[in-house]
Amino acid sequence: MHNFTSLLFGLDEFQVIDVAPTTCPDLLRVVIEMIETQAACPSCGVFSGGIKERPQRRIKDLPGSGQQVELWWRKRRLKCVEAECPTQSFTQTSLAIAPGSRMTERLLAKVAWSIAKSNRSISDVCREYRVSWTTGNKALAAAVQQWLPAPEPTRVLGIDETRARSVKWVVEAESWKRTDPWMTSFVNADPNFSGRLLGLTPGRCGACVSTWLGKQTQEFRDGIEVVVIDPSAPYACGIRSALPGVKIAVDHWHIIKLANQMVTDTRRRVIQEQQGRRGQAIDPMWAHRLLLLTAAEHLSPKQRKRLNKVLDSQDPTGEIQAAYQCKELLRKLLATSNEPRLIRNRLFEFYTACADANTVETIKLAKTIQTWWPAILVFLQHRVTNARTEGFNRVIKQVKRTGCGYRNMDNYEKRIMSHIALNRAA
Ligand SMILES: [Zn+2]
Repeated sequence: MHNFTSLLFGLDEFQVIDVAPTTCPDLLRVVIEMIETQAACPSCGVFSGGIKERPQRRIKDLPGSGQQVELWWRKRRLKCVEAECPTQSFTQTSLAIAPGSRMTERLLAKVAWSIAKSNRSISDVCREYRVSWTTGNKALAAAVQQWLPAPEPTRVLGIDETRARSVKWVVEAESWKRTDPWMTSFVNADPNFSGRLLGLTPGRCGACVSTWLGKQTQEFRDGIEVVVIDPSAPYACGIRSALPGVKIAVDHWHIIKLANQMVTDTRRRVIQEQQGRRGQAIDPMWAHRLLLLTAAEHLSPKQRKRLNKVLDSQDPTGEIQAAYQCKELLRKLLATSNEPRLIRNRLFEFYTACADANTVETIKLAKTIQTWWPAILVFLQHRVTNARTEGFNRVIKQVKRTGCGYRNMDNYEKRIMSHIALNRAA
């Protein structure tokens, strides 16, 4: 029973009963009413069409045909015809406008979509659609529930940390407190499937991990066989409490990073001991520091020769050379395919080199490897990595810049998750 104007207006339950220009150019006054003239009483369920009142309510809506719309809803307050019913009158409700709301659902949906899809700031979008910041933020929160499906079950779960924003000092109860907010991301790290962000949670403690896992379905938890983490004791603890019996693997990139740090620490200490100061550009060892961190097989013959020359002349105690050897042996171990005997031999080689070098740094690295060995072995057996999480860290940083300092971590989490969800669907 639509007339043309109602069809153009596009809210199925409503018909347009009047359109008139206002004193403002580009602003149209539109009056609508619901097509259905009857409604069921919310208390007794009896249908009634007896009108008690026709109040008009101003409703905010999307612009139409390039013009702003001053929308009025001519409501129906109906009388309940059931004599025994305690409700004497009630207002007809619509799916397009939530009860008590002064905005159409399509306006709220558009606002939420515009914020999340292109990662615009909430205030920018709210200004465009003439709604308040709070309305925009609430619309986004409501929409996120629909956009974000429950995380898909995965065999390999990746857990990683990201700094949510920079460190700040804030006054709290008359004393200064350091805030160092981190977020933990959960990723589908199964090599057979595309890496997907499954969830985010504020913090980076063991409880953050176990709480997030606790919120998922039993099916999701049961499906996990391996969890990949960086060598973080709190994460490992949280996983063990939430998923007893699951295998924990450490990402080999983080182990290589520790080995590189060990080489750097050794070089710094040796230069400090030799020169009584920090390394400078005039020290050949300092100038060639990046060669020490480059994988041996990636060095050109010329670079190899240069590195050997510097090590021969600038490392009289041989400690830097030994640290470099330990790092390379560890890399070789991590590159080993799943052959138990070869793994055992290479691990022995690495431990022996660390013991022979006998420096503070090599012993510390050997102890770390010993602590994490069961998890490293799982990595060697399954070859699972968190490398794809890096992509999400980039998105998280972009959202952070637009958000310009979210204080509520839940809002922040919703922004990131919805931006990723909408852009993934596209
Ligand atoms: Zn009733």
